Amino acid sequence: MEPTSHTVSGAPRPVVAKPSRRDFLRAGARVSLGLGVGLSSLDWLTSCTKLADHRIAPWDELASKLQGALVRPGAASFSELSTPWALQYASTIPQAIAQCRTEADVQTCIQWAKANSMPIVARSGGHSYGGYSLTTGLMINVSALNTFTYEPTTGLATVGSGARNRTIFTQCKPLDRAIPHGRCYEVGVAGLVLGGGIGFDMRLHGLTCDALRETRIVLADGRMLTCNEKENADLFWACRGAGGGNFGIHTSFTFDTFPVGTITTFNLVWTDRLADTFAAIQTMTLSAPDTLGIKVSITAQKQAGASVLSLSILGHFVGSEADLRSLIAPILTVQKPAEQTIQIAPYWDGQQLITEEGRPEYSHERSRFVKGQLSDEAVRQIILNLKNWPGTSKAATWKYFLLGGQIDARSPTDMAFVHRGYSMLSSIELEWTPADDAALLAKNEQWLTGFHNQMEAYTSSYCYQNFIDPSQEGYLQAYYGTNLPRLQAIKRKYDPENLFNYPQSIPV
Ligand SMILES: Cc1cc2nc3c(=O)[nH]c(=O)nc-3n(C[C@H](O)[C@H](O)[C@H](O)COP(=O)(O)OP(=O)(O)OC[C@H]3O[C@@H](n4cnc5c(N)ncnc54)[C@H](O)[C@@H]3O)c2cc1C
Repeated sequence: MEPTSHTVSGAPRPVVAKPSRRDFLRAGARVSLGLGVGLSSLDWLTSCTKLADHRIAPWDELASKLQGALVRPGAASFSELSTPWALQYASTIPQAIAQCRTEADVQTCIQWAKANSMPIVARSGGHSYGGYSLTTGLMINVSALNTFTYEPTTGLATVGSGARNRTIFTQCKPLDRAIPHGRCYEVGVAGLVLGGGIGFDMRLHGLTCDALRETRIVLADGRMLTCNEKENADLFWACRGAGGGNFGIHTSFTFDTFPVGTITTFNLVWTDRLADTFAAIQTMTLSAPDTLGIKVSITAQKQAGASVLSLSILGHFVGSEADLRSLIAPILTVQKPAEQTIQIAPYWDGQQLITEEGRPEYSHERSRFVKGQLSDEAVRQIILNLKNWPGTSKAATWKYFLLGGQIDARSPTDMAFVHRGYSMLSSIELEWTPADDAALLAKNEQWLTGFHNQMEAYTSSYCYQNFIDPSQEGYLQAYYGTNLPRLQAIKRKYDPENLFNYPQSIPV
């Protein structure tokens, strides 16, 4: 069999346009929709001032050197390319977006930005929870580097850094193979792998970063490096879990793949006796085989002013429907679910049953890794907090993803991803819409902080760097723990002038 290689998306056309008054007004309108964790109006004014200051930058010169488009505010595609997944940060407007089509384009952007003192940021899938793939300078957008190559003799797949989970879904399906991936179609593979990468395969096959064999990266000095266990091994160590935006701009990732067969997917919902049902779910999950990938959620929604709670389990089981049913039987003896879908399917058809699109929204998520079992008191507090949720026009969810299995085949120092030996990744997610006013949002944010801080008594103080949280105190320690000093030394070696920086980046 010949290796397969192609670009998944179409080639963009060059567009150079100046910012229009409407872009400024649109930016102002976005500010009014932000929550406390977004930019203030003052920050936005500062951004606009910076925009005016930099208008003399030689954009035409950059555009002429790129194979891809240089898209400026006012161009038809600008808004779509600039808008982040976390809409509360959409008020930060880049002066230009370079849609890189080649590795050389990425090198050109970095060299041009340095020569013109222009701040830069990398954008792949745009799903940073903190809006950290935005800048008031030049956004280096690699989404057009959406290639996929499979080498049958080694079982290795190489994806361009513009690939999304959707690319993995569509390209791996005909091969009957997979890469440990995330659940939402639109999340970028770059951000996912650089910060770890959790998903329903991780207990059986490890995290996305565990499957990484090689990556190519453009450094601050414009050099293109290949990193693997033998070449630039220190940087390869750091790229597996230190998160995006810290050391350079990646252009490709090479992964181990694994063969797939049939799986049993499930989605069960309960609306009653939540504490008892949760206890049975927790007992089952903590002794489950590695073939089970599961997310357990308790969701609150407002109905006639009251918080109405539901409990759900969602995931897949690599095994038969009968074996899954016997695994969950002790839960069903507590109570039958209000809704239940259990379906056996070929692996990739099954993924489609449990996936989400991942379209932009307003959301703030705060995470904690958990060791062992959550106590009855912890569960009582979770339910109480959700019952006392102030409410928005959307929802609030406490959830956990079951960890263990192959994640713990590595030690915390094997690579930058330090969080090994935990039973769960828990998180609280607050969602809202523009219909919710500022006073209500402030109350919700206060509630989220209180809930998150209270949970620390029952969890660890460590947080998932891919659920990056602009309001997390002591975030460097929380994301990287004992690996932080080594990461800082690597940062000093490869980016001594701190070209790649954002509010929570690894400092020099
Ligand atoms: C709806 C949704 C679902 C999610 N589901 C999962 C999940 O199932 N599993 C999981 O582990 N996580 C999940 N996440 C978290 C996700 O992994 C992170 O938000 C991740 O950083 C997103 O990557 P991105 O490329 O889409 O984002 P971006 O916003 O493009 O980038 C994230 C960060 O990486 C930097 N970056 C982007 N591209 C590059 C590059 N080529 N080189 C260097 N740095 C780069 C950016 O500058 C930014 O700092 C989810 C997030 C959302 C919003």
